[in-house]
Amino acid sequence: MRKHTFIFMQKIKCPKCNKIMGGCSSTSKTGKKHIYYQCSKCRMRISEKKCEKSILKFLNDMLDFFLIIDNSFKPIMNKDTSNEIIKYKNKLSELEEKDTRIKKAFVDGLLEPDDLQTEIKLLNSEIDIVKNKINELEKLQNSLDYKQDINTFFNL
Ligand SMILES: [Zn+2]
Repeated sequence: MRKHTFIFMQKIKCPKCNKIMGGCSSTSKTGKKHIYYQCSKCRMRISEKKCEKSILKFLNDMLDFFLIIDNSFKPIMNKDTSNEIIKYKNKLSELEEKDTRIKKAFVDGLLEPDDLQTEIKLLNSEIDIVKNKINELEKLQNSLDYKQDINTFFNL
């Protein structure tokens, strides 16, 4: 037969003794009702408004967190990244095959030493670029996996 709805009923523990605080209410001279929670042992009180304020702050923080990590498009992003990695890895093996072919051409006497050096230098810088790109993409993929894990954890 309670007169009020205590929104944090059975949810607030006394900070001193850890006992569940009971709901109370009082009416001020102006006729305004005040709802609070009180520990029956320590007589400690806390107003419901204060609890509400702090839980709203907590919920807002949590919402911000969700907005940051919630990428429903992530599986697609992840797939794109995987495809990009495959593309660059194929490019890398092409370049490495080319390297073998150039060296073979030199051995077969089809290429001058100067030309060999120029070709190899060019090829190596191309290989470096592709390797860096793969590295970057793999890092991106790991971070996406990590974010996905956090999301799953929070959903649980
Ligand atoms: Zn207490």
